[in-house]
Amino acid sequence: MLYGGIEAGGTKFVCGIGNEQLQVIERKSFPTTTPEETMEQVFDFFDKYKGNIASIGVGAFGPIDIQIESRTYGYITNTPKLAWQNYHFVGALENALSVPIYWTTDVNAACYGEYMAGYGKGKNSVLYYTVGTGVGGGAVVDGKIVAGFSHPEMGHMLLQRHNEDQFEGICPFHHDCLEGLASGPAIEKRFGRKAQTISFDHPYWTIEADYLAQCVYNTTLLYAPEVIILGGGVMKQPQLLELIRQSFKEKMGSYVDTPTLEEYLLTPRLADNAGLIGCLALAIKKLNH
Ligand code: ADP
Ligand code: ZN
Repeated sequence: MLYGGIEAGGTKFVCGIGNEQLQVIERKSFPTTTPEETMEQVFDFFDKYKGNIASIGVGAFGPIDIQIESRTYGYITNTPKLAWQNYHFVGALENALSVPIYWTTDVNAACYGEYMAGYGKGKNSVLYYTVGTGVGGGAVVDGKIVAGFSHPEMGHMLLQRHNEDQFEGICPFHHDCLEGLASGPAIEKRFGRKAQTISFDHPYWTIEADYLAQCVYNTTLLYAPEVIILGGGVMKQPQLLELIRQSFKEKMGSYVDTPTLEEYLLTPRLADNAGLIGCLALAIKKLNH
């Protein structure tokens, strides 16, 4: 039997087909435009597997409605991407493909991917952040994706501003939240050019590391997870992880005895496939419920 995965990101979609062992058999990526255009490509991708896929796991950009009893379950809700506002994602998929759908956020799916097949494998608790166009976080504890009245919005936690940082932030909702200060577009706005063009030894990276270390500090105190994984485009700066570890160590002092930082703070083992593999694993989980 085969399973489908859809990593529905704000910038691009990744569709994939995989097997029970979470091996990816086919993968296709295309830009996120309008629901009409993008979903047409999704349906096209899965068309030739019709009848052979048992279920599909979806990790979507949000906010999304994940409350089964809600009238708008399966919808993307008040996203700044206007074309996708109040789009009934799960309904459209069910209509087109007639298979059970597991529905969660993109970062929850990536977290679940690392939990099943990456650095979280064999562990009971995994926290995952993506630092990219936005910042998002997800948690898996004892095999369950953590949720309450809705999914967490960890990327908007408030931070203490670094004393050398005058930047006003880019989040329209909050002053001094993680996404507003440390996402890729926040870096781009500070410098007037893409984050990937800032040289690796630029002093800014210690400020970025300070913000991400605050995030890891808060996360450690809230969840005491066995591992924290930091993914997304900004984490492709190779020096950043070690700067975050150092800053985290200074902030934490000796208060909490965490696992050794080389095993505690990591970038995703599955690299850019964490989301898709997580979606495949969630597709399988859907049938075992
Ligand atoms: P998305 O969040 O849209 O799914 P990414 O996780 O790739 O996609 O994040 C894109 C963001 O990451 C952009 O703001 C981009 O400038 C930034 N980025 C990509 N590569 C790097 C890099 N090597 N160093 C710093 N920032 C990067
Ligand atoms: Zn915010």
